[in-house]
Amino acid sequence: MKPFFPTLTGNEPLLAQLGGEILSDRLGHAYILEGPAGTGKHTLALQIAAALACERKNEDGVPLPCLQCPACRKILSGNSPDVIPVGREDKATLGVETVRKMRASAFMAPNELDDKIYIFEDAQTMTAQAQNALLLILEEPPAYLRFLLLTDGSVPLLETVRSRAPTLRLSRLTQEVLQARLLETEPEARALLAQSPVDFGELIAAADGSMGLAKKMLEPKFRQTVLEDRKLARTFAELAANHASASSVIPFLGAMEGPRDVVIARFSTMLLCIRDLSLLKQSDTAPLCFFYDRENATALAYRFTAPELMRAAREISAAMDALYRNANVRLVLTRFAMQTGLLP
Ligand SMILES: [Zn+2]
Repeated sequence: MKPFFPTLTGNEPLLAQLGGEILSDRLGHAYILEGPAGTGKHTLALQIAAALACERKNEDGVPLPCLQCPACRKILSGNSPDVIPVGREDKATLGVETVRKMRASAFMAPNELDDKIYIFEDAQTMTAQAQNALLLILEEPPAYLRFLLLTDGSVPLLETVRSRAPTLRLSRLTQEVLQARLLETEPEARALLAQSPVDFGELIAAADGSMGLAKKMLEPKFRQTVLEDRKLARTFAELAANHASASSVIPFLGAMEGPRDVVIARFSTMLLCIRDLSLLKQSDTAPLCFFYDRENATALAYRFTAPELMRAAREISAAMDALYRNANVRLVLTRFAMQTGLLP
């Protein structure tokens, strides 16, 4: 059997389906690729385009796409005139003017390939008007036209669009798969694991199933920020569980301080940590999104009562709300410490 999309990880049934459809020339004209950020929508869209154009498509035993032939390479490097990204640029929404421009060019036959493929980024930001303009061409597209609409699913597309473009859902990777894949493909990941298994575990947990985010965190500077936020979240949980004295709370509050957006990010990491602890109080096997060391996390969870965790989650949300409303950072932190019982 021909291997399909050999460099992609996860979502295997979906990839097998797509590969089969491309090989037997049954691929539809339009699809919605839906998945949270970091699930590889963009990578998959380019690889679908490459698979359509791959010069070695019909060779036995060669993966589809082969990723090596000139057609594959041109597409994957973003240099094919027939694979065209459509984005909202610096605007909040993808508007009707952008779609009209796309439509005008869509009726010109492809330059080099048999297909002309439009990849819509952030399709969830398309205005209703833009979607209706797209419908005009989705209803009766020229035979060479293909559309891939990439969306995080936060805002559903119009039913009329969805009825013409089946939705393919991409899910995040499990921690185990992400870890195995990262170690296999990234020398920096192997180096980090050898150097600090704890930091590596933290990175896998923080990447939350996203290969893209995991790779980004292999850059030391970015990783440092993420690891510091996670350490602060654990410190908060430890302090709260210990009903710590004020003298140990002051350094924590000092470390929490920073520019508003940085403090908001720290609180949102804390919320993930507290959420995991709440789930662990209900079930030892709950899926976790902050902790990777389940045993330690379970032990920590049992040092809290459920109402204590609920109160902590509520106060973290209240602190974030206040920061979004431009409240003074230091005052928010002090109030938070008092409300959660860290300070008398
Ligand atoms: Zn190829």
